[in-house]
Amino acid sequence: MLTGSNHNAICSFCGRRRDQVRQIIAGVSGGVICDECINRCKEMLDAEFNPPPREDQLLNFSLATLKIPTEIHANLDKYIIGQDRAKKIIAVAVYNHYKRLLSNQDKNNLDKTELTKSNILLVGPTGSGKTLIAQTIARFLNVPLAIADATTLTEAGYVGEDVENVLSRLLQAAGGNLKKAEMGIVFIDEIDKLSRKSENPSITRDVSGEGVQQALLKMIEGTIANVPQNAGGRKHPQGEFIQMNTTNILFICSGSFSGIDEIISRRVNKRTIGFETAAQKKAKAEHKDKVFEEVLPDDLLKYGLIPELIGRLPVIAALNELDEKAMLEILTKPENALVKQYQKLLRYDNVELQFTPDALREIVALALKRKVGARALRSVVESVMLDIMYSAPVDKEQREVVVDKDKVLENYTRRATEVKEDAA
Ligand code: ADP
Repeated sequence: MLTGSNHNAICSFCGRRRDQVRQIIAGVSGGVICDECINRCKEMLDAEFNPPPREDQLLNFSLATLKIPTEIHANLDKYIIGQDRAKKIIAVAVYNHYKRLLSNQDKNNLDKTELTKSNILLVGPTGSGKTLIAQTIARFLNVPLAIADATTLTEAGYVGEDVENVLSRLLQAAGGNLKKAEMGIVFIDEIDKLSRKSENPSITRDVSGEGVQQALLKMIEGTIANVPQNAGGRKHPQGEFIQMNTTNILFICSGSFSGIDEIISRRVNKRTIGFETAAQKKAKAEHKDKVFEEVLPDDLLKYGLIPELIGRLPVIAALNELDEKAMLEILTKPENALVKQYQKLLRYDNVELQFTPDALREIVALALKRKVGARALRSVVESVMLDIMYSAPVDKEQREVVVDKDKVLENYTRRATEVKEDAA
């Protein structure tokens, strides 16, 4: 094979002369081909033997690559302490959701049994890991995630954010790739704040709560939604809309449902009304922490969710209040545990940071007082660490800083006083 410099050579395929193309290649038996024809031939061969991946392959979804429940659970374990039962329920629901998605795409499947959608409702106290679970799953599955606060949503026509805006945020999270967005996860927090004020449905319409629950219904069940391409919270009458199919989007709704434990306990303890033995009392006290696990659709109805919405959230997973032991583990164990994060930050200043066990227990005690679950840990540690992080870079020497219980109390109280003085 030779590259031709002969100006008279003519491509045997397209008939162009050497001076009309960039390169020309001559074969041994006199045939000649130009660079453009070579490219065209390559495209034809690729189309035949290397077809572009299907969209589901592009998104890495196939039965072989689908994450199975034990893998999802194991990944959740790396970041989330406790909540074992919830993790198991969610891992199975997520696996089933994506199996259903594959089954819907498989046009050759002769089994016409339709798999219904299994959206998830997370019930549990604030700061117990509900949002973190959704974030961890989305990252593990490499699907886009949009997080919305139900209290900012309104039904169409009212001031506030339309429910469709949540979908445009999902589209953004998918980098504008509609197909990817349509396989994503939408997490709607504070769903409990939409509860209607009365169990009696005949009460006049309650815009803030029931209306939004109604608006969410269709989206959660699966519909073609008109999604504003420009998510900004405001409506754009002349703005661009894009049609998004929500059938394969996994919706995870979440709420603390404060007070629902009493509804559950009342139902569960109906049998024990009247005289209670000491053993029953003890069992009841031990049971109190786990009461959320017993939540049933009926309790949610009593709480004020409308039955249609409850029906569309068939998987209910309860998260428990985190106790001292769990909070201590949260500080040190997860892959991105707070203590590990601060140690890493200070290593840049040549500081080896250590917390004594007493200090960690004190941090947990201070956080528990705030009654917002593990969420309080960060702000307590931040208060404790402020002065240390402020002065650490001044001294360049390699050194060790040990935070003990006294330092925690001293720094935390000083910081609390400063905040009070600033506010005054
Ligand atoms: P919520 O249940 O209110 O959605 P989040 O999941 O947002 O709570 O938790 C707030 C923060 O508290 C998280 O970012 C995480 O740092 C920490 N956290 C809460 N629960 C857990 C948990 N079970 N394991 C590890 N960290 C947790």
